[in-house]
Amino acid sequence: MTFEELGLSPELLRALDRAEYRKPTPIQAQAIPPGLRGRDVMGTAQTGTGKTAAFTLPLLQRLDASAGDQPVLRALVLTPTRELAAQIHESVTSYGAELDLWHAVVFGGVGIQPQIKELRRGVDALIATPGRLLDLVERGAVSLDRIEFFVLDEADRMLDMGFLPDVRRVITKLPRKRQTFFFSATMPPEIRRLAKLLLRDPAEVAVAPVSVTADGVADQRVLFVDKANKRRLALEVLADASVERALLFSRTKHGANRIVRELERGGVVAAAIHGNKSQGARVRALDAFRAGELRVLVATDLAARGIDVDGVTHIINYDLPNVPETYVHRVGRTGRAGATGTAISFCDREERAYLADIERLIGRELERVDNHGFPASEAPPAKPAAPAPRTRRRRRSGAGRSRRGGRGGRHSASRQGG
Ligand code: AMP
Repeated sequence: MTFEELGLSPELLRALDRAEYRKPTPIQAQAIPPGLRGRDVMGTAQTGTGKTAAFTLPLLQRLDASAGDQPVLRALVLTPTRELAAQIHESVTSYGAELDLWHAVVFGGVGIQPQIKELRRGVDALIATPGRLLDLVERGAVSLDRIEFFVLDEADRMLDMGFLPDVRRVITKLPRKRQTFFFSATMPPEIRRLAKLLLRDPAEVAVAPVSVTADGVADQRVLFVDKANKRRLALEVLADASVERALLFSRTKHGANRIVRELERGGVVAAAIHGNKSQGARVRALDAFRAGELRVLVATDLAARGIDVDGVTHIINYDLPNVPETYVHRVGRTGRAGATGTAISFCDREERAYLADIERLIGRELERVDNHGFPASEAPPAKPAAPAPRTRRRRRSGAGRSRRGGRGGRHSASRQGG
């Protein structure tokens, strides 16, 4: 299956090509065709599956097909955290680079005035967290009367974070005639009820849910370290001969390349697999890893999906994932089929909140390893943080609004911050 076969426009295909997406992920293959036909979509999928593109691509294509001269707010994406909002906005900016659409992102915790100013100039699509959106609606800075596309992202996390009342208030302000995309990693009864209320005859799409136990992985350790020392710590860990076959995770493609260079400088042969590598390079690296010729494979989460390699003795989380379910996905790559595996997570100061999220999700504490060569300069908390409502780390960016192209003779704009 190719993106072309899904029915995407040439502008979007070129943007995907630039982003080096070679083929649709399963959730994209399932959600894009009905989305393009105007159907409601109910997706069971979590971050890391490519779900953002699964709703963003049909949304952009349909908006573009019926855009007038002036931007009118016709698409709304509601997401629970500022971090997700910023990520979705980045995706919209990247996929929509050749389209003549304005879009903005708004979330709380930053000044509202710059956001009001941006919105006054008009946007076609808005990505928002619920509280800030309601605030803006109440101030008359934004009207939801002409919304045609509504996306509710991470509905179960909205529930976890206590945002459902706000979400319901937003929904009452939307026109009844609209297309709705509904995404949730899990479908507890309350979320199912909400979906039923929102969706009309939806196409139901799903990718396998993650088990949150990670029970097969007996040995799950965390090493507190300063960011600057992660490289040395990785070399120390890999110097242990019991690490026969290690899958090392990096949050970003760029990071994966850097880690490989750093390891090689330290005398450890490694290869990276991620979306920017050619198919050939990925296959070669995987084959060598499978055959036992390559001891260390560095991967991003998406590249590692679907990789099934027996005998991975160690999972090393060089970066902790900001989505706790991703941790479970990662460590599930070891300890398969009765073999025991070890998961070693590096945790720098900024990642401590992620660690707390992970421990809450899996319902157990990772074993603290203190006797390593590069202990963190600032002592970590002795115990994991007490259970509290899930919160995400804050990103220091405010309203962002961007557009490329110039329908109506306007200049393109792209801004972040505020
Ligand atoms: P998401 O689940 O939407 O947060 O996406 C996870 C990551 O996968 C993001 O970094 C996307 O840029 C990337 N991604 C999404 N779709 C594809 C694809 N078809 N091929 C390669 N990378 C993708």
